[in-house]
Amino acid sequence: MNGLDKLPRSPSSPPSIPQPIRSDGAGGVDKGPRDVMRDLQNPDMLVPPATDAGLVPNLRYSFSDTSMHLNQGGWSREITVRELPIATTLAGVNMSLTPGGVRELHWHQQAEWSYMLLGHARITAVDQNGRNFIADVGPGDLWYFPPGIPHSIQGLQDGCEFLLVFDDGHFSDLNTFSISDWFAHTPREVLSANFGVPEDAFQHLPSGQVYIYQGKVPGPIDTQKVQSPYGTVPQSFKHSLLAQPPLQIPGGSVRIVDSTNFPVSKTIAAALVEIQPGAMREMHWHPNNDEWQYYLTGQGRMTVFAASGAARTFDYRAGDVGYVPFAFGHYVQNTGTETLWYLEVFKSDRFQDVSLNQWMALSPTELVRSNLNVGPELLRALRKEKWPVVQYPGFAYGPKSGR
Ligand code: MN
Ligand code: MN
Repeated sequence: MNGLDKLPRSPSSPPSIPQPIRSDGAGGVDKGPRDVMRDLQNPDMLVPPATDAGLVPNLRYSFSDTSMHLNQGGWSREITVRELPIATTLAGVNMSLTPGGVRELHWHQQAEWSYMLLGHARITAVDQNGRNFIADVGPGDLWYFPPGIPHSIQGLQDGCEFLLVFDDGHFSDLNTFSISDWFAHTPREVLSANFGVPEDAFQHLPSGQVYIYQGKVPGPIDTQKVQSPYGTVPQSFKHSLLAQPPLQIPGGSVRIVDSTNFPVSKTIAAALVEIQPGAMREMHWHPNNDEWQYYLTGQGRMTVFAASGAARTFDYRAGDVGYVPFAFGHYVQNTGTETLWYLEVFKSDRFQDVSLNQWMALSPTELVRSNLNVGPELLRALRKEKWPVVQYPGFAYGPKSGR
């Protein structure tokens, strides 16, 4: 048993208290101090599958376990190597801006990739050749700002919430180059000389980094556009991922975005994966880099195979970050009753994955047969085409499965 059968099925039947006891009797009742709410959320950590073994480091962190940074104009929270030490390639920030709320003009050493979760924002940037960029983004849109390129984000009429991903696990959004911070730490006479205006033009400057502030909801985008003599950026910093036609397979869909279809995104590649109830992201791995995940909706579990007899299962829910080290085998099962959506993000210019099923299908049949001691039923079922999501008829992983 995986413990899922003990989850509430309807509001009228309160959940029983899950116990760390496997169906074969291994384990025992936990009578001591415990957090039952968390145990209910983590049935596969309380009762790991019998195939789990060995030492695999923590591969999950919830944004709910981070400290919020609250400002007039919005909030932010982040998951970096300080929270999830194995996640060295990428760091994530979850941010919300009120209507008119501004993430101030700033830049940083890392590239910034973002996915708009809710609402709308206006983003701006100017590149090293004086070419500018302004765009409005909504749910399912992405942006990418190359390292060092200055930019801003402002919430529109409905405000917004988004996920930011940076191509360095040590990044902190609280440690960026802010325009207000630089002004506050430059002598007034230098500012006066730099801009060619008297010092009293600077008497009301902010005293330090502003970070996020409450502004006024801006007018239509055309009223804010500034004409540059050098034109606009040659490669757009915006991409509409959700508008992209997906690869549709039984049990779900996948949208891949990397430098092949979003040319400016040279250091971050991603896949937006949909897994319907009862389906799973197939057994696979990535031959290029670690995978950083963000769970958007639903609930699931992922088992990661770490070689040398080690495998570990984690439960994930909306708002969690997951991580898979380079080349580790893994699969993600939808264990809930609603569709699971998550992002796979990589520090790479290309999305790349190796399918276990396709690898076997395209290898000599006799080799696969003798290596695994399997019969013709499996060998015939192997698929030469890659299906990132699979749904075996009559088989489901969620509480409805009755297992
Ligand atoms: Mn930024
Ligand atoms: Mn993967």
